[in-house]
Amino acid sequence: MTSTATSKPDILMIDPMPDDITQRLADHFTLHRYRGMDALGPVASSIRGVTTGGGAGLKPEIMAALPHLEIISVNGVGTDQIDLVEAKRRGIRVATTQGVLDDDVADMAIGLMIDVMRGISANDRFVRAGHWGKLPVPNSHALTGKKVGIVGFGQIGSIIAERADALRMTVAYYARHRKDGVSYPYFDSIVALADHVDVLILAVPGTPETRNMVNRAVIDALGPNGYLINIARGSVVDEPELVAALTEERIAGAGLDVFVDEPHVPEALLALDNVVLQAHRGTSTVEVRTAMGHLVIDNLLAQFAGKPLLTPVI
Ligand code: NAP
Repeated sequence: MTSTATSKPDILMIDPMPDDITQRLADHFTLHRYRGMDALGPVASSIRGVTTGGGAGLKPEIMAALPHLEIISVNGVGTDQIDLVEAKRRGIRVATTQGVLDDDVADMAIGLMIDVMRGISANDRFVRAGHWGKLPVPNSHALTGKKVGIVGFGQIGSIIAERADALRMTVAYYARHRKDGVSYPYFDSIVALADHVDVLILAVPGTPETRNMVNRAVIDALGPNGYLINIARGSVVDEPELVAALTEERIAGAGLDVFVDEPHVPEALLALDNVVLQAHRGTSTVEVRTAMGHLVIDNLLAQFAGKPLLTPVI
């Protein structure tokens, strides 16, 4: 990690970004990659901006080590791994990439739902293992006419609803508040929604309030014919309860993009055919990662030019 004599603002990059984005960052800023607290020490006082992912966020000890930090530009929309209260207290601005990733994350939710209900990944393994023609192929389940419950009806949840509509599924939702102008049925209890639907899709932020929101009662309400899809945050689900329910077939299956302790995935899930696993890939498309990267940079440029941030959180 080296600091160069330049007027370009110093930026600390926590999570790697695509090569073309990293190049554009380096064109505008003196770029330092985070390689641990020891390596950070000599340049810490020069850092004016941080780029990071929604999952990585900014650890409190790193934020505390950067006395001249002005802005955290998040390459994602989740701010659950950033102490926003402390950032606000210190006058540190926080921006996210809201508005450019919603469609692709919604696609991941729908993809996971189709995959786990139709058994696509499971059947792929079946074919590759040479079982076709030798073992019976289990039937999967239809989507058309099934009921989908969306937990959290914001930017991403509302797009999931549009896509589920197009699949001729019936949509209902749960959030803290009924949404103005939304005609889908609103449930004021996640347990009641889980009881009503065939598929529960999670699209809430990871907050202290939503921690373990999907608990034993919700899983039991979803029942042995129900599917859980999580593209929100691992913390929203009581993971040991989910693993037990899947193992004991107390729910039909799950499609999971996010986990409590990423990149660790509970060992028991790896052997289950009624689970589809992803490595937190909701936004991992070339198109969206490029758009997100440019927005991360544009927020930094706005900050250092004294202009309003494009997509501020605080
Ligand atoms: P958003 O527009 O802020 O919507 C969040 C929704 O959750 C709102 O409808 C909100 O409505 C509801 N909500 C918030 N707290 C709640 C609570 N305690 N109980 C019930 N409902 C609650 O957020 P978004 O842009 O759709 O993103 C949702 C989340 O998706 C993000 O925060 C992030 O964690 C996750 N995400 C994941 C990926 C991925 O790669 N897998 C990518 C992007 C985002 P009320 O305020 O009315 O309750």
